[in-house]
Amino acid sequence: MARTIHHYVGGAHVPGTSGRTSPVYDPSTGEVQAEVDLASAEEVDAAVAVAADAHREWRSVSLSRRTDVMFAFRQLLHEHRAELAALVSSEHGKVESDAAGELARGIENVEFACGIAPLLKGGFTEQASTGVDVYSIRQPLGVVAGITPFNFPMMVPLWMLANAIACGNSFVLKPSEKDPSASVRLAELFSEAGLPDGVLNVVHGDKVAVDAILESRGISAVSFVGSTGIARHIYERGTAAGKRVQALGGAKNHMVVLPDADLDVAADAAVSAGYGSAGERCMAISVVVAVGPVADPLVEAIAKRIPALRVGPGSDPTAEMGPLVTAEHRDKVAGYLDVAASEGATVLADGRSLSLVEGASPGGFYLGPSLLDGVRPGMRVYEEEIFGPVLSVVRVESLDEAIGLVNSHPYGNGTAIFTRDGGAVRRFQFEVDCGMVGVNVPIPVPVAYYSFGGWKSSLFGDAHMYGPAGVDFYTRSKVVTSRWPEASTSAIDLGFPGTR
Ligand code: NAD
Repeated sequence: MARTIHHYVGGAHVPGTSGRTSPVYDPSTGEVQAEVDLASAEEVDAAVAVAADAHREWRSVSLSRRTDVMFAFRQLLHEHRAELAALVSSEHGKVESDAAGELARGIENVEFACGIAPLLKGGFTEQASTGVDVYSIRQPLGVVAGITPFNFPMMVPLWMLANAIACGNSFVLKPSEKDPSASVRLAELFSEAGLPDGVLNVVHGDKVAVDAILESRGISAVSFVGSTGIARHIYERGTAAGKRVQALGGAKNHMVVLPDADLDVAADAAVSAGYGSAGERCMAISVVVAVGPVADPLVEAIAKRIPALRVGPGSDPTAEMGPLVTAEHRDKVAGYLDVAASEGATVLADGRSLSLVEGASPGGFYLGPSLLDGVRPGMRVYEEEIFGPVLSVVRVESLDEAIGLVNSHPYGNGTAIFTRDGGAVRRFQFEVDCGMVGVNVPIPVPVAYYSFGGWKSSLFGDAHMYGPAGVDFYTRSKVVTSRWPEASTSAIDLGFPGTR
């Protein structure tokens, strides 16, 4: 009998009652290692009720005590770093060093939330009118929900949880059913850090649970990260139900390389950002835009690096790239290689023929790095998010053409430019229609005290995630107008209140 991963509600592991489960694979062997419970709408409602009760207590806890919990949580994350990285790797497939990297970036969000106090300060105006003071306060929303993707099972939940909880909200987290254990472990560690039971609840599930979250009257706001089609659905349905929604979607990130760029730096960056985490990153480089004469030497430099990449299980410290998350996803990504060839692109490296590190199981969901040259707009491999280790090269003649290409793509998550020309960089960052831009930095994920978010079809809603935008998203402001009159000055006045 496979182990079952249960919900975590009210500070306890709660077995599912829907009778539905979903398999959780070990992507490095292809075997099912556990089943995860899939919640019914009733189970979601029950978790929301627990969260609502806990919120009444949590919002009354002093800010200093709330901050104590965040500091203790941060410490526990550090102490459990290796265990958490191994847990992520075991269900996602990414190599443990990469999982440790995502945890480190997640911890930065917790550190930001440790300093929440000054960010929750309101404003105060003395004597706005005679004897009248006006002040604003920030209050939590209540119960908020997060729905997260498979590709960052630790970091993306932390993008949401850290600020939401520090601001005084309680949380219902619906992680990806493909790698759900990291979220449960985060909730356990939060409990150990002193978070009252019920403030953070993890409910596993699929569309049924997600739709119950969107319909729940008890949930005030929803944060979503995942693919664009679902993000649009979440945004439309959640806002129609009166909720505040931020929904981050898919990506197709272009890396523009100008002829004056350092060739080795650019080739290393393209390989690292294209194939790291097997390309299953929303900030992965998917398209290299080679400008003018740099194309031939750049393609050659990238192609030369590919055979040296070591592909194997995430637990093998010598492996640089792990398997993909499921067989279905691996097959879908591999299918793009045939599509590319049929559309006229040149397949310079085909990840289907690969040699694995010694000891790797042939049953793992592996696909090696692939390189496509001669890719053009209109081809499916260019237009669609592949979300795997497939790098496409598009050749253009000028910076103008490169910017036009990036701007005409429906996605606008991240982009990067590689050059030594400051003027070109300035133009690029001024004109490019993407939310996050790297200058000689291929994966420009903003530090935790900025905020993360793309443009166009990569984000639905106005609110970026984490950092100052996260604090805004998880709080609402209240303005108090106050007078403490002397009894003798009281008089009836039916006119509209003035300030002069
Ligand atoms: P996904 O959209 O399939 O799943 C995301 C979440 O939605 C999961 O919790 C899943 O259970 C749920 N879900 C799936 N199908 C649903 C449906 N029909 N109705 C309601 N909910 C549903 O995404 P994924 O495959 O887990 O993750 C990869 C995607 O996430 C990629 O498109 C990637 O670009 C995107 N992503 C974006 C960012 C960003 O910041 N913009 C970050 C990470 C990942």
